[in-house]
Amino acid sequence: MGKVLGIIGGGQLGMMLAEAAKTMPEITKVIVLDPTPDCPASQKGAEQIVADFKDRSAIITLAGKSDVITYEIESGDSDVLGSVMDKTDVNPSPETLRIIQDKLLQKQFLRDNGLPVSDFVGISGYDDLKAGLDSFGYPALLKARRDAYDGRGNYKIDSESFAQKAFEFFSGKNLMLEKFVPFKMEVSVISARNISGKIKSFPLVENIHENNILRQTIAPARVSKDVSLKAAQIANDTMSVLKGSGVFGIEMFVTNNDDILINEIAPRVHNSGHHTLQSSKTSQFEQHLRAILGLNLGDTTLLHNTIMYNILGPGDFQGEYDEPEISGDNVHLKMYGKKISKPSRKLGHFNLVGRNGQGIDELLEILDVLKSDSAVRPRV
Ligand code: ATP
Ligand code: MG
Repeated sequence: MGKVLGIIGGGQLGMMLAEAAKTMPEITKVIVLDPTPDCPASQKGAEQIVADFKDRSAIITLAGKSDVITYEIESGDSDVLGSVMDKTDVNPSPETLRIIQDKLLQKQFLRDNGLPVSDFVGISGYDDLKAGLDSFGYPALLKARRDAYDGRGNYKIDSESFAQKAFEFFSGKNLMLEKFVPFKMEVSVISARNISGKIKSFPLVENIHENNILRQTIAPARVSKDVSLKAAQIANDTMSVLKGSGVFGIEMFVTNNDDILINEIAPRVHNSGHHTLQSSKTSQFEQHLRAILGLNLGDTTLLHNTIMYNILGPGDFQGEYDEPEISGDNVHLKMYGKKISKPSRKLGHFNLVGRNGQGIDELLEILDVLKSDSAVRPRV
């Protein structure tokens, strides 16, 4: 008998998990919990419970209907998820989620396990911030410990005169301060750990952000063999101590000396893994489902050089929009079915796949043309 999969969150990640689930005989049905009626996952055939991600009774209802629960966002309530473990499996485990969803606990956990991170300190008041800035110097990043995404919970403090403003910006939230890493590249590893503890990673990719939001992922990352091996080792070591099963996105910095520091871990499928939909035999979405269902992990070999480009809502507009039309044998557009465009909202992505053996430079040239063709325009 196949299983019923429950997902906390039915945005684009939940949608692509639901699509992967359809291809797997082990899963008969997907139910998502999401506050937005007609969420992206429900448009692809998932049943939806319309409720807040942290709604206790909705989570209990979802647990009653599901054989296994997973999530596409890290802001779920780990206590409530922990309390339904007698009804259903929850993967990654609520304990792993509890550590990861608090940036300070996460960094402490990584440092305690000997993994490389930038210097950081917990901030309980303005005096702590001043002491931290004296010790780390400028710039430094003040970060909200919880519920941040797309860089919205970060404040870069360039000099002493911005300290007060930065502190007030967060008005009472729990905070941490981090030393700024002058990185030469941001990279990530999508790694999976299945229920029996087997770990498998996709090759290292390079991530280019614009205004703190991921815009472009280049697979594989343009780094030396040494750097990619080092990153793979760090990802593997991280997965060994994390314990939870599922796919994790491990974001890292490559410094000017080719050292690697972990920025943060997402306990879920990750935007920088979307290229796997076409570049690899197994997508990160199938891999996640394989991991949490106790199946063997799939092949993670990168078959083609690939660039993933995010389609974001334009900065000057909010409202209905026309979907871009781009095509080509090696262009794979995926829109997420969101009705309304908002500034920088992730509305879709496309993968440009080097199936004919194109190198990254050649793909980047093709991408230049596709970038403007894929721009979202207001509906008139
Ligand atoms: P996302 O949802 O995109 O993962 P987030 O809100 O969780 O983002 P972070 O990943 O902590 O935030 O930071 C967003 C971006 O800010 C990073 O990708 C990186 O470009 C930059 N950044 C974060 N921490 C540092 C640091 N210590 N030094 C330099 N840059 C940093
Ligand atoms: Mg991040």
